Amino acid sequence: MTKSRTRVETPLLPIIGNFRTTQWMDLGLCRDNAPEVFFPSDGAGVEKARKICGGCEVKDLCLEYALVEEIEHGVWGGASERERRRIKKRRRDGAF
Ligand code: SF4
Repeated sequence: MTKSRTRVETPLLPIIGNFRTTQWMDLGLCRDNAPEVFFPSDGAGVEKARKICGGCEVKDLCLEYALVEEIEHGVWGGASERERRRIKKRRRDGAF
């Protein structure tokens, strides 16, 4: 049996025409860091990425983008894969 995927839509993510804009990425603090920092292999690495995200002005957009696009790997918007799965589950369950 295959599991049906429910897309998580959000009013936070800018949508222009049929295109979801990713211009916010130009403002992300991750631009000044190696990409590997945001794809950590352990909890210490997640903490390091989360600290950077904590000071990022596009953190909320980044998290919503990762949720809507169902990005499974890496730290986005300060949330690890596991945290994003929890957020998606809470939203599906209607408990924000
Ligand atoms: S929240 Fe983190 S991953 Fe997202 S744009 Fe900012 S620094 Fe990059």
